[in-house]
Amino acid sequence: MERFPATAPVVCFVAIFLGLQFTVSSASPAEINHDLTNSAAARNLKQEQERPHEVHCSRERSRAARQIIEEYLMPFVKRENFQMSSPCKLHPDNDMFQDQEEHKIHVDINEWRCGYCKKSFRAERFLDQHFDNRHYNLLNVSRNICLADLCGALHCDFVINSKSQKTKCNPAAAARNRHLCESLADTCFPVNQGLSASRLHELFLHQFCDAHTCSEKKKPFPRGGLKLPNILYLATSILTLMLLPFIYLIVFLHQRDMTGKQELKRIKKRTKPS
Ligand SMILES: [Zn+2]
Repeated sequence: MERFPATAPVVCFVAIFLGLQFTVSSASPAEINHDLTNSAAARNLKQEQERPHEVHCSRERSRAARQIIEEYLMPFVKRENFQMSSPCKLHPDNDMFQDQEEHKIHVDINEWRCGYCKKSFRAERFLDQHFDNRHYNLLNVSRNICLADLCGALHCDFVINSKSQKTKCNPAAAARNRHLCESLADTCFPVNQGLSASRLHELFLHQFCDAHTCSEKKKPFPRGGLKLPNILYLATSILTLMLLPFIYLIVFLHQRDMTGKQELKRIKKRTKPS
């Protein structure tokens, strides 16, 4: 019996997936960036770029630090049902960019929108510039804590340049980062605050501080973390689930057709006069 090709569902799925990708990326830049085509808006953007507001804290590195905290620390903090106090620099309220980051709307691959004034941008970095220039008054500078300053302790470089880790280990920098890391563990999870705090203190040392050494090759985050849901992964999963019944239906119809043809041949053979 002729078999239904095993690769057919895969080919079918890939074709639909590529089709979707094309639909997303083929949107005209003119449509996406409609308000930027307006000359007044373009002039505003030019003005914004010409006089950037001084913020002595890297937004990109703060974002990396925040992602690391969310992925490799907060799942454990939530599991212990522990409330971090405000002197802890890792407390979400201490992130000066938090409010702005929450007002980023990622409409699609080529469109980012400002949640305050609804202006659209082609890339996240333009929206970042817009925040720096137009909404700098919304930065939470009350505690003057820059998450990017904690990057040494939190291994931001490991996450940002995960593919190129060829830089030589500097013992002085490793010692400095270890000290910063341990002081974070002490202020965020004081061991005299009960069992949960002690457990989190130990976890923090293990997860972040132990890897600050040049003598041993230790990777950060040995306890793993919660992977943030990847939009592409979610879309692929949903699409696969939606397509599964159709694939089964095609296989079923094909096999039924083949069985029918074979049955017909058998009947013809039997009824043929000998
Ligand atoms: Zn805005």
